[in-house]
Amino acid sequence: MPKVTIIGSGFSSLAAACYLAQGGFQVDVYEKNRTIGGRARQLIKEGFTFDMGPSWYWMPDVFERFFADFGKKTTDYYELVRLGPAYRVYFEDGNYLEIPNSFEGILDVFEKEEPGSSQVLAAFIKDAGHNYKIAIENLVYKPGISPLELITSDTIRKLDQFVTTISKQIRKRFKSPKLIKILEFPVLFLGAKPQDTPAFYNFMNYADFVLGTWYPKGGMYKIVEAMGSLATELGVIMHTDSGVQKIETLNETATGIVVDGRFIASDIVLSGADYHHTESLLPSSLRGYSEAYWDKRTFAPSSLLFYVGFDKKIPEMRHHMLFFDTDFDKHAAEIYDTPKWPEEPLFYASFTSITDATVAPEGRDGAFFLVPLAPDLKDDELLREKYFDIIMARLEKHTGQSIKEWVSFKESFCLNEFKSDYNSYKGNAYGMANTLMQTAFLRPKIMSKKVNNLYFTGQLTVPGPGVPPALISGKIAAELILKNLKDGGR
Ligand SMILES: Cc1cc2nc3c(=O)[nH]c(=O)nc-3n(C[C@H](O)[C@H](O)[C@H](O)COP(=O)(O)OP(=O)(O)OC[C@H]3O[C@@H](n4cnc5c(N)ncnc54)[C@H](O)[C@@H]3O)c2cc1C
Repeated sequence: MPKVTIIGSGFSSLAAACYLAQGGFQVDVYEKNRTIGGRARQLIKEGFTFDMGPSWYWMPDVFERFFADFGKKTTDYYELVRLGPAYRVYFEDGNYLEIPNSFEGILDVFEKEEPGSSQVLAAFIKDAGHNYKIAIENLVYKPGISPLELITSDTIRKLDQFVTTISKQIRKRFKSPKLIKILEFPVLFLGAKPQDTPAFYNFMNYADFVLGTWYPKGGMYKIVEAMGSLATELGVIMHTDSGVQKIETLNETATGIVVDGRFIASDIVLSGADYHHTESLLPSSLRGYSEAYWDKRTFAPSSLLFYVGFDKKIPEMRHHMLFFDTDFDKHAAEIYDTPKWPEEPLFYASFTSITDATVAPEGRDGAFFLVPLAPDLKDDELLREKYFDIIMARLEKHTGQSIKEWVSFKESFCLNEFKSDYNSYKGNAYGMANTLMQTAFLRPKIMSKKVNNLYFTGQLTVPGPGVPPALISGKIAAELILKNLKDGGR
């Protein structure tokens, strides 16, 4: 039985592990941290359970598709609820809009905010739905080897949407600054400014408004547990607390890895750790990309995160709340153009205990707060405290109550931990952005450019950032490995 060792246990690694075990490999996963899940790890403290990273469950079809490949369903492992409202967005004038959990309801919200806009939205979402179908059927499951992968009769008809941006597309159709912010929000998951993201990615608006916002009861970590169980059922062996120190090669071919000073021989090495870090485990002559290459890429933002336990239930909270109550463009410029800590940050708050009684002690709320930041900034406790105070003050102002005094504990996580816990390049939170010049075959390659039998998966390669793309990335990498093996190796 051929043997593959996988570096890291994020979603992409776990997905790849399942497909490779199903394909007949002996699979061993080596994870540096104490638990599996990568950026989707869990923090349990004083009776509270927090998802440490992802919190939005979008594109439920991708998860179903993954489990169906193994004759399973998500319901075999976890229970999903569709959130209603999906989320609340606060604006500069102190008001908010809520996105209901039906498209009809969303059309009403638009019509009230900007008369005539519901019809425009219906047409926009019809096009976005068409793009979603094209993306899922023709694009995102492709290995990013050749530009030809992108050329289909459908994509040729959509060529204009690859050269114009989503920001232009939206602003041409809608006037209300509030609706524009709501429509530009989904592509933030792709890691770049809406002004730099191709209009074709409006399929994220279809995911938002039509496919809906879901929540796995118990939290996003349920998906990690589900994939971990499936992998174990398929015979995969997980090794936690096992950081990989080196990838060994002979004649430009990977021969195994070194963990705790011990050589572990392997026919194939696949890494789901950050691409840049993985290449640092090789001698510099065998790295496919130079430091200058990485330095020039547009990375997804990093984040300042807080996990907070409150002494009581806080009225007026929602499961997902976006605070777009300051200048969106200014904060974006402070992430991408002139990197610095934002003067007036936008932020996101998630009170999962509103939906799920299992994640907080009775009569109390737990919350997760996120401020997007440029990668590679200075990070220290004083700065973190300053931003915690800003968040609390804004939350209090918008909901007209005192909140900070009810904080029982808080833990923070920022650039320093992204680097130390995940070996993240410049402390990025979710990989490399999906700009036009960093899409599909233009992203770092799944197959090492210089080392035979070494492969990559995860958010720095195809298709890009996010949990659904990570599942897809694992599948693409595993399929490429199985194909190359069948064709007699590479
Ligand atoms: C704060 C935050 C919020 C997010 N929100 C959402 C969201 O709401 N919805 C969504 O879909 N996506 C979201 N994302 C993005 C999503 O979580 C990621 O894109 C996805 O989890 C990445 O998976 P991955 O497998 O590529 O990498 P990772 O999860 O980073 O996995 C890589 C693993 O490799 C390990 N590793 C690194 N170096 C070594 C080594 N030398 N040896 C062994 N192991 C090593 C790391 O410890 C890690 O476990 C969010 C991300 C963050 C950080």
